[in-house]
Amino acid sequence: MSLSARRHLRSHGLRCTEPRRCIVEALRSGPKTHAELLRLTRLDRVTVYRNLITLQRVGLVYRVYFPGKPPLYVLCQQEKQGTHAHFFCQKCHKAFCLPSEAIQLTGVWAGHTERIILFGQCPECG
Ligand SMILES: [Zn+2]
Ligand SMILES: [Zn+2]
Repeated sequence: MSLSARRHLRSHGLRCTEPRRCIVEALRSGPKTHAELLRLTRLDRVTVYRNLITLQRVGLVYRVYFPGKPPLYVLCQQEKQGTHAHFFCQKCHKAFCLPSEAIQLTGVWAGHTERIILFGQCPECG
């Protein structure tokens, strides 16, 4: 069992179960659809679905939507859960954790940046 996948799960307050570890490992190489995760992890549909919900609840995984396409599941690269937004490149489909100071909301919105996903072209593509 890879130590870093375990640490990644623990840093988000989750026990390192085999399905969670498999999903985190599969997402390390880049965003995946539910179908791709099924194929890569060889877990059953319900197990993948249920664990994705748990991983999303703690902010370790987030979902990116495109009109008319299945959503992509993306792994947050940071070990500790912080209040930071994400950037998704529409061209190469790479996802990035933005530094927490990149987007800071104030007042009642403070600390609610985790679900913000910016779309555009990454420095490599742009
Ligand atoms: Zn992140
Ligand atoms: Zn790109």
